[in-house]
Amino acid sequence: MLDTTNETKIQQILDTFNQSLPKSEFKRVADLFHDDCYWRDLVSFTWNIKTLEGKAQILEMLEHQGKLIEATKWALDPRETVTADDGVLTAWLTFDTKLARGSGLMRVKEGKIWTLLTTMVELKGFEEEIGENRPQGVEHGAHVGRKTWREGRDEEAQTLGYTTQPFVVIVGGGQAGIILGARLRKLGVPAIIIEKNAKAGDSWRNRYKNLCLHDPVWYDHLPYLPFPNDWPVFTPKDKMGDWLEMYTKVMELNYWHSTSCKKIHFNEARQEWEVTVEREGRELTIKPKELVIALGVSGYQSVPKIQGHESFLGDQFHSSKFASAEHYRGKKAVVLGSNNSAHDICAAMIEDGVDVTMIQRSSTHISPSKTLMDVVLGGLYSEQAIKNGIDHHKADLIFASIPYKVLPAFQIPLFEEMKIRDADLFARLEKAGFLLDFGVDGSGLFMKYLRRGSGYYIDVGASELVANGSVKLKSGVNIKEIKPRSVVLTDGTELEADVIVYATGYGSMNQWLADLISPEVAQRLGKVWGLGSDTPKDPGPWEGELRNMWKPTQVPHLWVQGGNLHQNRHYSQFLGLQLKARYEGLQTPVYGAADVHHLS
Ligand SMILES: Cc1cc2nc3c(=O)[nH]c(=O)nc-3n(C[C@H](O)[C@H](O)[C@H](O)COP(=O)(O)OP(=O)(O)OC[C@H]3O[C@@H](n4cnc5c(N)ncnc54)[C@H](O)[C@@H]3O)c2cc1C
Repeated sequence: MLDTTNETKIQQILDTFNQSLPKSEFKRVADLFHDDCYWRDLVSFTWNIKTLEGKAQILEMLEHQGKLIEATKWALDPRETVTADDGVLTAWLTFDTKLARGSGLMRVKEGKIWTLLTTMVELKGFEEEIGENRPQGVEHGAHVGRKTWREGRDEEAQTLGYTTQPFVVIVGGGQAGIILGARLRKLGVPAIIIEKNAKAGDSWRNRYKNLCLHDPVWYDHLPYLPFPNDWPVFTPKDKMGDWLEMYTKVMELNYWHSTSCKKIHFNEARQEWEVTVEREGRELTIKPKELVIALGVSGYQSVPKIQGHESFLGDQFHSSKFASAEHYRGKKAVVLGSNNSAHDICAAMIEDGVDVTMIQRSSTHISPSKTLMDVVLGGLYSEQAIKNGIDHHKADLIFASIPYKVLPAFQIPLFEEMKIRDADLFARLEKAGFLLDFGVDGSGLFMKYLRRGSGYYIDVGASELVANGSVKLKSGVNIKEIKPRSVVLTDGTELEADVIVYATGYGSMNQWLADLISPEVAQRLGKVWGLGSDTPKDPGPWEGELRNMWKPTQVPHLWVQGGNLHQNRHYSQFLGLQLKARYEGLQTPVYGAADVHHLS
């Protein structure tokens, strides 16, 4: 609801920001906040990704950063109006710092700031050449010795990494590496992406043949080049692979496919990384100043060692090796696990006429896709959201503006609604013996994803197969022993098996770092992902942000990029700007770098 008095209220707050910050009257600014308050900053104030919780933390940050950052020109974003909902005013803001332009989102309750999001949009003097500033592409006229675009690209490919060094090397060319590569390209930061697969997009292509993205298209757009508006809601994995390959080309990325990263070492004397890779049968070392790990936020496949596994006469493999079930028609399969991959593989088995049993060891959260889209994501990422003026850029900021501490409270009612909408399916699943959960506090899918990155299935049809018994289920048990043609469960049941699929997830990313760099560096970096929520697989203390993602780590010049497509799109903006600032030699005083509490 548009209300000019509400605009006046926000304007008064911004006026105080404008008057007080230049005079270092930080207490006066902190006093504008509610006792229950959060300031989430994406790089603009802290050169970090940081949530300050409570007035004391906000004051401390301002006292530390206020003079360095020099924030001015706080204003209501002229493209937006202040809205009021349930006693909370919401306002879009713009501001400047000494080095950057920023935008933000403020929520005010009882006359005081409840949540504030501040984000860096661009560095002054280093703006991306987009829109009105797009490059000409050609210099009209006759120019002796001019280079064509093709010649320029070829020259870059022949020299970068050989006779000239990139500022950044990104190890891993899945969606995470590609998206950050595009940001760096637009920002003019020389970068090379190292990928062992033969083609960009292969990390999706190499998966099982019936896989489609579980997230809908509105959530998945890549930066700069959104999907066209006839793109399917759920992208088939090979189509996603082709899009990534095309994107890598048209974004002019220096993408070294078929290149394996073998070893990485930090040369202290030269303050640069030495990244040894094998390319076209040759070993060579690239020497960037900054290193980004984009290997996927989980590590090696985790396969339990079960007594007797070596005696099994059928096939047994990790879910990541599953391609299709065609060869197993008429045979018996056991799938150990009950999360996304386990469900998708069981559904593929049913389609190919396999007799499959799912072994569910512990409870699983099930989010039916339709309800997820209608109730949980729809307000921000859907056709309706677009009609309401919320495109994915705006949606990303709205979502980012909700501090992780209060996110569960926002999510719980949505998943309560899911329980009602899908009551019939959930009841039938439980009747079939399926162990259901909605997270320890009922906050559902997204919190589970952020806290532990596992423990759920976005139901795209396999839950019905479990509920109606097409997929047989044994729950609350594990495999105790494997015999040549069967598995024995912990409750004593013996199941015949021609194939065993271990849908048992992945280890920690630190294992990869330990192998590629060193165990010491992996330990210094510490655990990646999780919020410190003190819930299963996410031990405390509370961190307030995802550990080590997209922000400075305890290992200088080492960064981690990853997550789902939405997170990659949104947070690559901030990782890109952090790297650009370092490339240009700007001062980047990091505030509140997180301590390491867990090693993996
Ligand atoms: C059933 C299912 C549905 C899913 N649906 C979605 C969805 O809808 N949306 C979504 O965003 N995610 C989805 N995911 C998760 C998705 O798999 C991850 O989000 C995505 O793969 C992460 O991308 P990434 O680039 O971080 O890692 P990866 O895709 O794992 O890429 C890492 C890359 O590093 C390369 N690499 C590894 N080691 C080396 C080395 N030594 N040298 C060179 N290269 C190396 C690998 O080849 C790989 O290409 C789904 C997953 C499953 C199982």
